[in-house]
Amino acid sequence: MLLISPPLAKACEPPAGISRLAGCLRGNGLECTLWDANLEGQLYLLEQRQNPADTWSKRAYKNIGDNLHKLRSRNLYTNNDRYQRAVRDINRALTQSCQGFSCSANLADYQDSAFSPHSSSDLLRAAEEYRNNIFFPFFRKRLPHLLKHQADQWIGISVNYLSQALSAFVLAGFLKEEYPAYTLVAGGGLITSWLRSPGWQNRFTDVFDHLVEGPGETALLHLLQQKNNNSTEKYCPPDFTDLPLADYLSPGIILPYNASSGCYWNRCAFCPEKAEGSPYTKLSAKQVCDDLQSLIRTLKPRLIHFLDNGIAPSLMKEMIKIPVHTDWYGFARVSQELCDFDFCRDLRRSGCRMLKLGIESGSQEVLDAMDKGINLQQVEQALQALHRAGIMSYVYLLFGTPAETRQEAQQTLDFTVRNADLISFLNLAVFNLPRNSEERHELQIHDFSTGDLGLYADFIHPRGWNRKAVRRFLTDDFKAHPLIRPILQRDPPFFTSNHAPLMTAAK
Ligand code: SF4
Repeated sequence: MLLISPPLAKACEPPAGISRLAGCLRGNGLECTLWDANLEGQLYLLEQRQNPADTWSKRAYKNIGDNLHKLRSRNLYTNNDRYQRAVRDINRALTQSCQGFSCSANLADYQDSAFSPHSSSDLLRAAEEYRNNIFFPFFRKRLPHLLKHQADQWIGISVNYLSQALSAFVLAGFLKEEYPAYTLVAGGGLITSWLRSPGWQNRFTDVFDHLVEGPGETALLHLLQQKNNNSTEKYCPPDFTDLPLADYLSPGIILPYNASSGCYWNRCAFCPEKAEGSPYTKLSAKQVCDDLQSLIRTLKPRLIHFLDNGIAPSLMKEMIKIPVHTDWYGFARVSQELCDFDFCRDLRRSGCRMLKLGIESGSQEVLDAMDKGINLQQVEQALQALHRAGIMSYVYLLFGTPAETRQEAQQTLDFTVRNADLISFLNLAVFNLPRNSEERHELQIHDFSTGDLGLYADFIHPRGWNRKAVRRFLTDDFKAHPLIRPILQRDPPFFTSNHAPLMTAAK
């Protein structure tokens, strides 16, 4: 089977989805090949030199090779200004490569003004009109070679982000026409969200033979094993063989790893993960440490990226007991353990470089209304303990939730200012209402018109704190604050939290 990660997503680490599938398939005796069409696709675009008139683009094209080399070297990450300049120059060249097409691409996103990824009819049209897509010449050049070496006629496309949807359909349209004998399977996070949406109807039967929901390992194995008449399954760690590990846009390998799926808290209001009903399953802490030790021995990664919605405290304790001697980072819930300096110090010794914390609000009332299960006093203690232990924090804040007004947003601003010295990076988001969240019934829905595949709905804010007012507050008050601005300025452009733990200049 050929497993493909389509463009476009951040190309700083190997794709987790197809690596997990490869581990499972190969461990169960089935052959597969991995193709990261995302990384290769972006490098292909960077080779499509245009003839720019402006000085910035000329400089960006001239320095592509040099900047890519720098982005893969540690030195660049010690100086924020040089890092930002190199990233923005590469991005400039990528953006320029889209001239003459209806699409726009950057290092983290891909859009096309002629097709909406929220609309099934637009996606089907993208599949039909695949020849007009910017990636078509690249797909046409690479696929015959990749398919020549396949033992069977199965192709899997892993679609995790909205920014991958259009090129996945372009790829599928091309494959259906040129290689009609192949069976096409699509899966991944975005496909799962579609399949779990209320009122989902599959309009893609002419493009994909199978759509797979949730973590695809078991489903894929069953699909393939029907053919091979074998039904046993054993757990195997991800397998990164065939991926061009030296080519990713990072200084060394960043290893994505899932110790769990779903969320062990699973209670926050409006959480898309909860709304999708993903069950919580986790590997034993010992299994995780064994997998990591073995992957570290063979691949020598620079950093481990835990993809869990929240790293379980039990896993943190095991990582302290059996340190992997490699830096790692991921999402964690603020817990009693993280308020304890000794625990955080041990966690740092275990390799923990940065924790991403979904704090969301500086108002206890808002946190309680969302059933976040954290209290602000504990959050401040945790920020202090982490900072003292040398673990960076990447704090996520959410504005415009139904329980918030300007007054609570101001409390979030005050909280951030009070803790500005302890916060390494900040992510600010304006609340989106997931279409399938249970809590949507409590709100007056304003508009579902984003397209039949749209995952969010517009609503009338019950306390009048609408998106326009939220955005104005963020621009005029929050981002402009002299203690907050520097935190936002050190956020790595485009790569954000993926590169943040590598920024040795950050505190
Ligand atoms: S902790 Fe995160 S993933 Fe878990 S329920 Fe809350 S928002 Fe959702």
